Amino acid sequence: MNQDLTTAESRLPDRPLTDSLGRVHTSVRLSVTDRCNLRCTYCMPELDATFMPRDHLLTFEELHRLTELLVTRCGINDVRLTGGEPLVRRELDRFVAMLSGIPGLTDLSLTTNGILLPEQAAKLKAAGLKRLNISIDTLDHEQFKKLARRDSLDETLAGIEAAIQCGFESIKLNAIAIQGITEHEFVSLIEFAAAKQVVIRFIEFMPLDFDRAWQRDSVLSGDRLLGLIEQHFGTLIEQPRETPSQPAERFRLPEGGKFAGAEIGIIRSVSQPFCQACNRLRITADGSIRNCLFASDEAPIRDLLRGGASDEQLIQVVRDCVWQKKPSHGIDGDGFSPPPRAMYSIGG
Ligand code: SAM
Ligand code: SF4
Repeated sequence: MNQDLTTAESRLPDRPLTDSLGRVHTSVRLSVTDRCNLRCTYCMPELDATFMPRDHLLTFEELHRLTELLVTRCGINDVRLTGGEPLVRRELDRFVAMLSGIPGLTDLSLTTNGILLPEQAAKLKAAGLKRLNISIDTLDHEQFKKLARRDSLDETLAGIEAAIQCGFESIKLNAIAIQGITEHEFVSLIEFAAAKQVVIRFIEFMPLDFDRAWQRDSVLSGDRLLGLIEQHFGTLIEQPRETPSQPAERFRLPEGGKFAGAEIGIIRSVSQPFCQACNRLRITADGSIRNCLFASDEAPIRDLLRGGASDEQLIQVVRDCVWQKKPSHGIDGDGFSPPPRAMYSIGG
């Protein structure tokens, strides 16, 4: 990473993590593995996925040290665990318990495909996990097999049910929006989520698939999806964003229908990027700091952690990386090329 851009201001300890545009970072996504029990077309390769060597994965102790520094010294207050599929990492509940003991960490959440929730949801809740996002793109078995390249819809549904029974602070469902592939899913997904009294959010397909099949016109845009939803359910009622840095635009289904008032979200990461309000950084499972999902550059920190680096040195690497964050992901710009890592290896 280029050190020249780092100012004395950004080097001061015990300050918020800011970039050169003044965006304050309060949220970190920790990827705990790049392995997964699905092979979603928009994320992973179908065959021969190569995974990080196990000794490259940060240990829970290493991840905890970094997170503690970020929370107690840099103003991070929100941690989301992701992957790959985070629940395939052994003893994840032990890690959740370690994190939930960090003073100042106000939000601890997890994004999962749900398959392993029946055996893990209660343990994770007991360990201090507050919120869950569960990804489900379809309720149709054949479509699930096509999208995830595995026949695991029933397991995902059982996972959603198990999570609901555990009483997490919030459960949201996430569904991908791919033009020509998922526009027939929204009615059943919205009705399913409404019946379970959980929020469902639709996320525009981003150029982060391993197969590099993404094209601009393979995005089912938020505009088009909203049009389709309104054709079916009637005019939606717009809601204020939860916070300015929350990527989802929120709507409620209109009064009068069976699911009146149910909340849905649209995440227009491609057609209406929210980069100017971005407050996130990421740590990959093999120990690199990323200031953007789409960054082509990242700051490796594993060798420093293992080589006896001081807290100050580690914090400085993170500060420098955040400082250099670009104004936007630039997907629509000339010369955009996807990052070298696909979504499962970054941590979505
Ligand atoms: N395995 C977990 C899961 O699927 O929820 C966590 C990791 S996954 C990478 C996190 C989220 O990223 C999922 O909701 C998934 O649908 C989304 N995702 C993966 N690839 C994507 C892409 N190319 N564009 C948009 N969202 C994507
Ligand atoms: Fe696995 Fe999640 Fe990627 Fe699907 S989106 S392949 S479940 S990491």
